[in-house]
Amino acid sequence: MTLKPVSFEVMASEGEARAGYLRTRRGVIETPVFMPVGTLGTVKGMRFEALESPELDARVILGNTYHLWLRPGAEIIRACGGLHRFISWERALLTDSGGFQVWSLGALRRVTEDGVEFRSHIDGQCCFLSPEVSMEVQAALGADIVMAFDECAPGDASHDAARASMELTARWAARSRHRFDVMQLEMMDAGRTPAGDGFSGAQALFGIVQGAAHIDLRRESLARTIDVGFDGYAIGGLSVGEEKSVMYGVVEEIAPLMPRERPRYLMGVGTPEDLIEAVARGVDMFDCVLPTRNGRTGQVWTSHGKVNIKNARWVADTRPLDERCGCSVCRRHSRAYLRHLYVVGEMLAGILLTHHNLAFFLDTMRGVRQAIRSGNFMQFRREFLEQTRSGDE
Ligand SMILES: [Zn+2]
Repeated sequence: MTLKPVSFEVMASEGEARAGYLRTRRGVIETPVFMPVGTLGTVKGMRFEALESPELDARVILGNTYHLWLRPGAEIIRACGGLHRFISWERALLTDSGGFQVWSLGALRRVTEDGVEFRSHIDGQCCFLSPEVSMEVQAALGADIVMAFDECAPGDASHDAARASMELTARWAARSRHRFDVMQLEMMDAGRTPAGDGFSGAQALFGIVQGAAHIDLRRESLARTIDVGFDGYAIGGLSVGEEKSVMYGVVEEIAPLMPRERPRYLMGVGTPEDLIEAVARGVDMFDCVLPTRNGRTGQVWTSHGKVNIKNARWVADTRPLDERCGCSVCRRHSRAYLRHLYVVGEMLAGILLTHHNLAFFLDTMRGVRQAIRSGNFMQFRREFLEQTRSGDE
């Protein structure tokens, strides 16, 4: 029997929302899932023990191909046994393709049919990334889930510009698939595991749907991506400055058309509210820098909405960040203390606020899964949104 690189099973659904299991070679991921972002081989401010603890229990984290390729370099990570061994993380890893990061360099890049030439944001050196190079770097990193190399159009791209970009993404998807398959046969995957326990030893490859805000292009992109054939399908190019209603509209139209028997991943999204709204539209996987990045800038999410820890209101407030949160930060520390740490610039501030934010995101997704399984998701969604918007801190 040939095992698939990943297998996905929907166990319960309510409307378009699904709860399932994504089986990878490094364990089972319950979906819908939020994946913390570990750009440079670290989820900033978080020790791996905390990510693995029952309190957070992150089953999968992200690595960024672009950043790891520039520093420390793919060959160094390969020489250290792949990204899992390099960072000492035995659970699942997903790497992005580098396409989005290169796109965010803006004027520093030049796109051709072959790939993207750009100047490194670190030393200005000229670099070249293509579907083939991206697959080679991601094989050296050895993540369990690899993303196809895509081109992202701006959120407000015209129909013509978005079509050209979407068609390029479709051609790059086929090239990604081809190079990836050759390297899997050549066993170039540095994170390879012996197949066992019903898990495959191989990497999985996900395709990405583009097309900016144009639904007809999104549909065509999805059809062309499915034609190439992937282990999972992602919606890319959202959360890039478009109106929130545009993002929800694209997800609402596209997610239900994505293959039911494959995981659906909405890239780079979003707030807890966005996650719940996208789950309601059929999405299974998410990643976003918000909980970690905002933790470092003093912004936290709570069951009553966002709290800015810098606010003078909290100067002597002895309550936790969120009375309903069971995380170790909320069990131990007051807003007054966290505000003090932040204001005086102690590094523990970012660590503790990031910890709470990740606990809040991951716990929200636990609640989402539980609600879908017990048929209460619509009620959960309504109550969550009502409470978040109440602003009653
Ligand atoms: Zn907390």
